[in-house]
Amino acid sequence: MELPRTFVERVLCDLGTTEGEALCRALDGEACVSIRVNPAKAEGLRGEQPARVSEVLPMLTAAGRVPWCADGFLLAGRPSFTFDSDFHAGAYYVQEAASQFVGCLLQEVPTSGARILDLCAAPGGKTTLYASLVGRGGLVVANEIDRRRASVLADNVRKWGTGNVVVTTCEPHAVCDCEAWFDVVAVDAPCSGEGMFRKDPAARGEWSENNVRQCAARQDDILREAWRALRPGGTLIYSTCTFNRDEDEGSLERMLAWAGDEVAAPYPVDVDPAWGIVEGEVGPFRTFRFFPHRTVGEGFFAAVARKAPDAPG
Ligand code: SAM
Repeated sequence: MELPRTFVERVLCDLGTTEGEALCRALDGEACVSIRVNPAKAEGLRGEQPARVSEVLPMLTAAGRVPWCADGFLLAGRPSFTFDSDFHAGAYYVQEAASQFVGCLLQEVPTSGARILDLCAAPGGKTTLYASLVGRGGLVVANEIDRRRASVLADNVRKWGTGNVVVTTCEPHAVCDCEAWFDVVAVDAPCSGEGMFRKDPAARGEWSENNVRQCAARQDDILREAWRALRPGGTLIYSTCTFNRDEDEGSLERMLAWAGDEVAAPYPVDVDPAWGIVEGEVGPFRTFRFFPHRTVGEGFFAAVARKAPDAPG
């Protein structure tokens, strides 16, 4: 299926012809396959090769590392994960390379023992990453509104095996009634999925301008709830797998209009220019765009800020 015409027109307008055409060409290319190994189950194997990842090992050595994640590996092809016992044992998680960047956003945040709310969590890629970061003394509340997806999330959390994750299946407002309780709140928002046009061609058929508008409105609601759950001084992570401004920078701009100076600059995030990530700012938010013609992995947008320490709780 071809890329939606109005999507292509918008990309050419937003990025300019050269960049826009390069992005569209990349979206018609081959998707990347990557995994993140489980440090608790592949202990001592985070060096050259995670040897426990038996079935996929030959593919690891050929393709290299995810540049921004110590546990991330690119695969040279797509193995039959379902036939690999290490996959079922939770020795690794098949996770998009760009998504692994959320760990980088927390590189200066004291995460050991922290309480993290992953508000839109299924199937659990980022939940498992947060679970490894907070360690035994920490807690991840992984919430998923869709009950069917929540059971997949619970399976993946069980396989990961860190024992520090609670899975809930609530509307955001219900879980966020734990006001000012979390050190970190992550909103990996339901979005129009333009960044998945290469990996999942069905996403092209589901895309529409109307859906972009609906997603943006839903994101506004989710961010309002997320902010209530975050403690003063805590860190907010917002991410989508789409390219349009309305759901990315636009969501942050609309949030700043009501949250005002309660939003403060985040802890520093160190990014190597060689990674190809396009950095930006929306007020105090730092933003990071992953374009498949510039970075490894699929399309992704991430932003980070803090709740001001003197904000009302
Ligand atoms: N964080 C997940 C991961 O890394 O594996 C991916 C999350 S996916 C991008 C967004 C999730 O938001 C979906 O599982 C979807 O069911 C959920 N969702 C849909 N509508 C929602 C809403 N109104 N409020 C909260 N979550 C919603």
